[in-house]
Amino acid sequence: MASLMSQVVGHEAQKFMLQSAIENQSLPHAMVFSGPAGIGKTKLAMAITQNLVCESPVNKQACGHCGACVRVEKNQSESLRLVAAQGAQIKIDQIRDILSYLSLASDGQKRVVIIDQANMMNAQASNSLLKTLEEPPPDVYFILTTTDVRLLMPTIRSRSQIISFKALSQDNLQQINPGLSSWMYKSARGQAGKLLDFSGGESLERRNSDLSFYEHFWTNKSFVLETEIKEFAKDRATAAGILKNWFTFTRDMIVLSQGARDQVLNSDQITTLIKLDFIPVEKLYDFSSALLQAIQDIDKVDMTLLFESLWVKHARI
Ligand SMILES: [Zn+2]
Repeated sequence: MASLMSQVVGHEAQKFMLQSAIENQSLPHAMVFSGPAGIGKTKLAMAITQNLVCESPVNKQACGHCGACVRVEKNQSESLRLVAAQGAQIKIDQIRDILSYLSLASDGQKRVVIIDQANMMNAQASNSLLKTLEEPPPDVYFILTTTDVRLLMPTIRSRSQIISFKALSQDNLQQINPGLSSWMYKSARGQAGKLLDFSGGESLERRNSDLSFYEHFWTNKSFVLETEIKEFAKDRATAAGILKNWFTFTRDMIVLSQGARDQVLNSDQITTLIKLDFIPVEKLYDFSSALLQAIQDIDKVDMTLLFESLWVKHARI
């Protein structure tokens, strides 16, 4: 395998800074990677782990294929602990596991603890981490990731070096997932995690019913009052299907607004879509981005509230 660092797209300044720090043996022992979701922060944290533990570096970079590099990539390395939320929280027991792992002797081997979405740590978990974060054992590095550094407790922030990341460029996205239509890159708003596959085929009947729901959503002035949303979104799987179809309708509306009729996916429904051409294109971009987010969040939210808040934010006049 190629090294993880070579797979991290974009973020050149941050990569350069971190790699120089590793070479100069000045890598901070506690870091926070802060930036939008789905841009490669965790992958970069794992890439740094490879650089720290590689058994046969090439030009001071991880080789990507020695045993140590492979184990890091598979998250099976004794040098790496990757902590992620269980449910909605990172709990104190998870942090206690980390602390007992760090209390074991390591024979001078470097170790990295990555806490993904560290803002999910509850107060107990955060507090239990503070002392170790301030004075980590030798050769231990903490990398916490978060979408917004302000979501972390000030005591965590003050003990860490904050490294900020921006959304990826459309060129970056194309490099990560080539061959998609340009509207997909645009809708992903610099977050590779949003480049979902929308090619999944739903039945025609299903799609037509989703389109009339879509039309109703945009044209009914009292959508929230007059819609029994549960009739449409019976369960989460159905709701997810609706949102995906809505995404393709929105995408088609954007394409239509640019005069590219031949690129419309739902070409048999063009007459219905054209009726909705009063929606400004900027609104459509915002809406498609919101739909992607809603698809990601589908397991965590109330269906009725989800559709109502989409309407309030995007369709209410
Ligand atoms: Zn290696």
